[in-house]
Amino acid sequence: MPLRLTDSLRTLPGVGPARAGSLEKLGLQTVEDLLGYYPRGYEDRRLAATIASAPADVPVCLTLMVAEEPRLSRIRKGLELVKVRLVDDTGSLTATFFNQSYLKNALREGETYVCFGRVAGTSNRKQMTNPVCERADRVKYNGRILPVYHLTHGISNNFLAGLALQCVEDCAGQVEEALPHELRQAHALATAEFACRNIHFPKDETALEVARRRLIFEELFSLTCGMTLLRHRRDRAAGRTFLIPDVEDFLALLPFNLTGAQRRVMEEMAADLSSGVPMNRLVQGDVGSGKTMLAAYGAWVTAKNGCQCALMAPTELLAEQHYRSLAPLLGQAGLRVGLLTGAVKGKARKELYAALEEGTMDLVIGTHALISEGVAFANLGLVVTDEQHRFGVAQRAALAAKAAVPPHVLVMSATPIPRTLSLVIYGDLEVSVVDELPPGRSPVATYVVGEDKRQRMYNFVRKLVGEGRQAYMVCPAVEEGEDGEAGQGLDLKAAVSYANTLQTQVFPDLRVGLVHGKMKSREKEAVMTAFAAGALDVLVSTTVIEVGVDVPNAALMVVENADRFGLSQLHQLRGRVGRGKHQSYCVLVTATRNPDSRERLRVLSKTNDGFKIAEEDLRLRGPGDFFGERQHGLPQLSIADLTGDMRVLKQAQGAAEELLRSDPDLSRPEHAGLLERVRRLFADHGDMFN
Ligand code: ADP
Ligand code: MG
Repeated sequence: MPLRLTDSLRTLPGVGPARAGSLEKLGLQTVEDLLGYYPRGYEDRRLAATIASAPADVPVCLTLMVAEEPRLSRIRKGLELVKVRLVDDTGSLTATFFNQSYLKNALREGETYVCFGRVAGTSNRKQMTNPVCERADRVKYNGRILPVYHLTHGISNNFLAGLALQCVEDCAGQVEEALPHELRQAHALATAEFACRNIHFPKDETALEVARRRLIFEELFSLTCGMTLLRHRRDRAAGRTFLIPDVEDFLALLPFNLTGAQRRVMEEMAADLSSGVPMNRLVQGDVGSGKTMLAAYGAWVTAKNGCQCALMAPTELLAEQHYRSLAPLLGQAGLRVGLLTGAVKGKARKELYAALEEGTMDLVIGTHALISEGVAFANLGLVVTDEQHRFGVAQRAALAAKAAVPPHVLVMSATPIPRTLSLVIYGDLEVSVVDELPPGRSPVATYVVGEDKRQRMYNFVRKLVGEGRQAYMVCPAVEEGEDGEAGQGLDLKAAVSYANTLQTQVFPDLRVGLVHGKMKSREKEAVMTAFAAGALDVLVSTTVIEVGVDVPNAALMVVENADRFGLSQLHQLRGRVGRGKHQSYCVLVTATRNPDSRERLRVLSKTNDGFKIAEEDLRLRGPGDFFGERQHGLPQLSIADLTGDMRVLKQAQGAAEELLRSDPDLSRPEHAGLLERVRRLFADHGDMFN
């Protein structure tokens, strides 16, 4: 019986419990999963040759006859060889197989095989090592383009390709066509079946290209449709209409004058909040541009309208920092402000829950603890998420779902994202940009230095500390050898041993602290609090300090192995200094001799413009590294690369827009497949489309 898409891979021959477990690690349970598991590359087994014509060092397919019985020899324990003499009408060669003793009997004298591999040696002593042999009358894999998959322990590529071939042969025709016929016509896109067959086992290069384009288009198209559906749904929702109080009353609370950019964004927010439709606004502004005040403004307007505001930050540290600055500020205006993190427990937590439910608390600041089940609001009117690229669309939606009436949503992000990308990632949001820093900030002086300047760098740290300043020293790993590459000779400054060396050998007279991501949040917090209070001179850390921390007296940021970081990440790190009145510095230490890597780092010494840096980063490293793993909170894309495929992205966006204009909910029967595809793409995001 042929397979069906929903069949478990366990029903396939060769898949026992052990292998099924390994497959599951790759996210593969059903035939459908495997069909959606695209190869990472291909092996071309099409080039055919004869023994005489086989080029040196290029793998080829040869049709060869076994000229004499294979010989098995045991070289030592754990090493067995099978040698066999193979011929065609242009010559002969010896094939050697390591640890495949079954071939002794499987290769039959007088039979013909198609053998794939490299032919080495001189004309009268040609040989092949471990060629892949198939009987000439049952060739399945040789002579074609084979997929190469990402693997895991216990699953070989041959095995997985074998499963895939079976699945493709039986089920490619069952894959549902998500793209409407006219759309495929208009954009010259292959059918789902064609794409499925040729992405795994391409007929030739052209077929592969056609399949790839179709799948990329489909993915980006579905993504855009999903984002647009979200946006439509909210645009049509009736939201709360807020009255905007006199802004002077808000300004009177602040210890400084707002920048022009802050004022402009406040006006944009005010227009949204009073429009009757829920606000869905992204505020993008470089580190230090003063986004927190915009959240404060939103919370203030919301409270003046008798509603509650929730501000969600990605770490406890940040939540507490916001709490410390906003509670006194907004307290002046009579707002009752609370803090909810994992650390708030027992009675305190219960009281907080009660206050939120009764509506006696106006602003709650917290971590994702805010979306936990026990939290309910009397009248949640505004949801703010800070450093959004750490949250997903889902968390944003989960928090918003706690409101009876669709709430206003404000998203703040410090990662400057090039426009083309932000269209995809924040396609459901309006965008405001805070493109001005508060006055009196002098740009952070940035230097790229090599190992030869290490002593001078240490002296510089000592000098600044002598002047009463504090320093961050960041390194890429927690422990020596942690990420494998340390073992390969790269001298990664692991935070733990680095802090140790600094304290015992370099700065015995200074107070050196350490914070890294593997510490408990209590410990982390204690160290950060000590640093913020000036009880530490030097803070060694991994990138846990990357997001949002505010210690104005810190004037020096040293980054070890700086070449290991992305430019945007370095820019974020650098944003930790230069927040006070002191001239601040960033020293990027690198041992790399690669001129390109150094040149890349110099971009940072030349500009402080986060957007320019982001564009450059994107150009040089691509979006995967740009965001770090899945930090964008978007559905996982299996094939599309958001920048490499920018042209297809634009076509897909245009097509999605057009289609949704005629069928805004994708409710027509002919779009059922597409709606299903969109649902699946957002599947780990809960039931967003119901
Ligand atoms: P970010 O945009 O990175 O979140 P913050 O909101 O943390 O920036 O602001 C950085 C620092 O600048 C804070 O200490 C804040 O109090 C201060 N700040 C914000 N706006 C202004 C302003 N208009 N003038 C002076 N200082 C400001
Ligand atoms: Mg911030």
